[in-house]
Amino acid sequence: MAVIYTRVSTKEQAETNQSLETQLERCRLYAERHGYEVAQTFGGTYESAKNDERKHFQLMLDFVRKSRLRVGYIIVYSHDRFSRSGSNAIYITDQLSQLGIAVVAVTQPVDTMTASGKLQQNIQFLFSQFDNDQRREKCVAGMEAKVRKGYLVGKAPMGYDQLKVNGEQVIKANKQGKLIRLAFQLKAEQGLSNTDIIQRLKAQGLALYNQTLTKIFRNPFYCGLITHGLLEEGEVIEGRHEPLVSRDTFLRVNGLQAQNAHGYTQVKEDEQLPLRHHIRCGSCQKPLTGYEMKKKGIHYYKCNTKGCCLNRNAGKMHELYEDLLQEYQVDPILLPQVQEMMSQVFKRLSQDHEQEEKRLKLQLSELKKRYETLERRYAYGEIEREIFQKFGGELKVEEREVEASIEKLSGPLSNHQMLLEKGLKMMLTLSLSWRNSDASKRRRLQALVFPEGVQYDREKEAYRTTRVNSFFGLASEISQKMGQKERGKSSVETDFSLLVARRGIEPLLPE
Ligand SMILES: [Zn+2]
Repeated sequence: MAVIYTRVSTKEQAETNQSLETQLERCRLYAERHGYEVAQTFGGTYESAKNDERKHFQLMLDFVRKSRLRVGYIIVYSHDRFSRSGSNAIYITDQLSQLGIAVVAVTQPVDTMTASGKLQQNIQFLFSQFDNDQRREKCVAGMEAKVRKGYLVGKAPMGYDQLKVNGEQVIKANKQGKLIRLAFQLKAEQGLSNTDIIQRLKAQGLALYNQTLTKIFRNPFYCGLITHGLLEEGEVIEGRHEPLVSRDTFLRVNGLQAQNAHGYTQVKEDEQLPLRHHIRCGSCQKPLTGYEMKKKGIHYYKCNTKGCCLNRNAGKMHELYEDLLQEYQVDPILLPQVQEMMSQVFKRLSQDHEQEEKRLKLQLSELKKRYETLERRYAYGEIEREIFQKFGGELKVEEREVEASIEKLSGPLSNHQMLLEKGLKMMLTLSLSWRNSDASKRRRLQALVFPEGVQYDREKEAYRTTRVNSFFGLASEISQKMGQKERGKSSVETDFSLLVARRGIEPLLPE
């Protein structure tokens, strides 16, 4: 049994014929052709409706997970329709494959039962993310320019209305703005507590939580400045909007705020425990949870299974993890050679694609011939109209499917140089980037490199990896072999090109 998942961006829909209807139709045909019964269809949302999209995606995942044995396939139009984030898609498909569920793309047929097929699918996922990143970069560049000119990007904070006058952005203080100004003044001039200020504002019709007020007091937008995640840390820009309070007032309020700073140095537990659920207990396979020893402010990872008693200092576990990532780093000296080798793998894969393309083209001309024959027989009255319509229609459907496959085949791998450079660049500083990232970025990196997480072996006090992303696995292996050769440690002269060519179609990593 199978489910169908469709997704489209409004832009794309306008430009090509990948509309939701087309996607759905193609997916249905695919299911029919392979004899899969469609249990349910999901999606049908536009990318611009991000929350909706996430909801539908989650619904679909819940459905297939719950029905475990019944649903074996998630049918999508193409791999980039499955998920926009490549690493996330790789992570999810890996998890699904453990449940015996495969993601199949109608227009990008890969055999995910083989290692090379899996690598190919991963590459396609990475590519769709790469596309997205690029789109975002473009978009971000435009946004940054806007911010630097003093325009507000995003929603105006409370107290301001955002208007458009002759196509120009105009930000004006509203009624609430006046009360917010009052709040600043009460704080700066009379030194009132937040609670008192909140009461005064409430009496005038503005109800605020303490947290909201604290946030307002810390937002320099109210004194005419703009800060933004796109700017350098600490960088502020003179905004085009009218300030509600003077800079002096703003600074005084923040000076006062800092004095009674209780409550806003809250550290989210997750921030300190990025490896939660990523590490599994080596004894019982359960994902580790984490907690904070409040008195000392020290974090720990812990296995919750009764009798396991695995409990480790988070700092130590993080150091160990950095060591682990270090193993997958590519030595910068070897980078050109590794890149060359990897490039050969990609070429090999594109050759596979080319072969597949040839095969499909042959199939296509065969189908066309068969249709002509059928048509001729009908024209000479050798067969009935119904027969012609039935079989002719079937042939046409098949033709369209093959054509779509051909269309898509040339896509992802033709661009491999960019992905290669991006991936390898990441691998130069894998450990360091993990250390210097915030928790959410760390988590993404973790899932990308080790899609199934890692296990902690308490006897050896070390991590065990079950599966490594084939790209990283292969690149690091090449790098290590090259390093051995450089240092003269490898006595046998390895023909790397041969090795790589072979590895491209054999299991890439110890399973
Ligand atoms: Zn355990």
